[in-house]
Amino acid sequence: MLEVDGLVKAFGGFRAVDGCTLRVNEGEILGLIGPNGAGKTTLFNLVAGALQPSAGAIRFLGEDVTGLATDALFHKGLVRTFQIPHEFHRLSARENLMMVPPHQPGERLFANWLAWGRVQRAEAAVRKRADETLAFLELTHVADERAGNLSGGQKKLLELGRTMMTDARLVLLDEPAAGVNRTLLRRLEDKIRVLNRERGYTFILIEHDMEMIEKLCRPVVCMAEGKVLVEGDFRTVRADPRVLEAYLGE
Ligand code: ADP
Repeated sequence: MLEVDGLVKAFGGFRAVDGCTLRVNEGEILGLIGPNGAGKTTLFNLVAGALQPSAGAIRFLGEDVTGLATDALFHKGLVRTFQIPHEFHRLSARENLMMVPPHQPGERLFANWLAWGRVQRAEAAVRKRADETLAFLELTHVADERAGNLSGGQKKLLELGRTMMTDARLVLLDEPAAGVNRTLLRRLEDKIRVLNRERGYTFILIEHDMEMIEKLCRPVVCMAEGKVLVEGDFRTVRADPRVLEAYLGE
């Protein structure tokens, strides 16, 4: 599904990603681990089109997507979760979901004016999808709550929900477990698993919570100094002395 070949990102003379090669197969939940500064976030930014690579290539579903911008990748089904942007804090949980689908007819003034009925039907469909998403995430009770008032875990669930409002194929999750309490963590893991198994989503997740990595991810990829250091199942990666060494050198 995703092929990253010899990817490099240099900031001045420093290579944050330094010849990274990686494959992600459809249906996987790939866990990306590694010490701070290993280049994980930079790799995410390159794959999601937020940064331009200095060298190397990225293919998604067989197509060369190197250098494509975030919105072009989004339309192809490659989505990165973002923290809920500041300006959306004052919108409700439901409205945060309803903002996501691109090209809603209501966005065009003319359409509003000329085809009001069609706009209303489209909005009703988006609202229905948002409500189904909230129900799936067990967030119906906070549908009208301002997103800014949600707990850390509820915000992460809502973030996952935003990807469900698109026709995502590959979702990049950046530290989904950070700031989430134990109960909601279980639910978040559960929902990721269901989206993967039943709805065909492929995931790459950056995570420091090794319990979550162990439960959800196969394969696990450990990065260090901008490259893939070790790849395999959780136990193999954990047992590899190079991984321990990389973390000790952090
Ligand atoms: P990780 O996510 O694995 O902790 P990052 O990708 O955030 O690693 O960072 C890798 C390295 O690249 C770090 O040393 C970081 O300081 C550096 N880096 C990241 N972004 C920039 C930038 N915009 N300018 C300069 N250096 C950067």
